[in-house]
Amino acid sequence: MNDETVLTQADIDAIKNSIENCRQNDTTKIWDEEELAPVKQKIKAHYRGLLGEKCCYCCKNTHGEFKLVLDIEHILPKAHYLPFALSPFNLSVACKRCNMNVKGEKTSFLKDPAAAHITPEDTDNYKIIHPNFDSYFDHLCYENTTRNDTKMIKYTVQNDSEKGKFTYQFFRLKELEVDTVNAAQGIKAKPMKFSDLLKKETIDEIEQLLSKLKNN
Ligand SMILES: [Zn+2]
Repeated sequence: MNDETVLTQADIDAIKNSIENCRQNDTTKIWDEEELAPVKQKIKAHYRGLLGEKCCYCCKNTHGEFKLVLDIEHILPKAHYLPFALSPFNLSVACKRCNMNVKGEKTSFLKDPAAAHITPEDTDNYKIIHPNFDSYFDHLCYENTTRNDTKMIKYTVQNDSEKGKFTYQFFRLKELEVDTVNAAQGIKAKPMKFSDLLKKETIDEIEQLLSKLKNN
């Protein structure tokens, strides 16, 4: 941990002020409180460091990409489990695809959504690999290889893991798999040439028209 990701007394005060603001304004939208922004920044920096710039669900590495690619992830969605909106066990970072497009506010990844209010840290209640309680690679192996113009991304369930299988299905990880390594060993489709885009006559015609523009 470095100073950049340690919550100070000022941050804790900001959290409490934000909660008080919400109480006074009769709203639950604590996450939108302006005063919470520096705290959110620290949370994000902490989990990005912890995970090594990876999405906690699909393992996509965002190293070198714009830092907005990863969002703070509430494993128990804050829309349904507000008391845990700032609890470290319930926080991680995920890519927008997994966080917003796939998981959203769903609770179907829990065996018993009602029980999660009472025992939120019971890892057996989670059908997905929990980013903080479970060790991802015990359940799913993530392979990502790029060499020149061949690429392979593959997820393999480990030891018949139910959490591995569920995570693969729930986050539709199959959609992210690529295998141009093995595909290249089969019959190769004739590669398209740049000039296949337009007929020679058409290219000539366009070039002529363009050159007239220049001379005007
Ligand atoms: Zn992801």
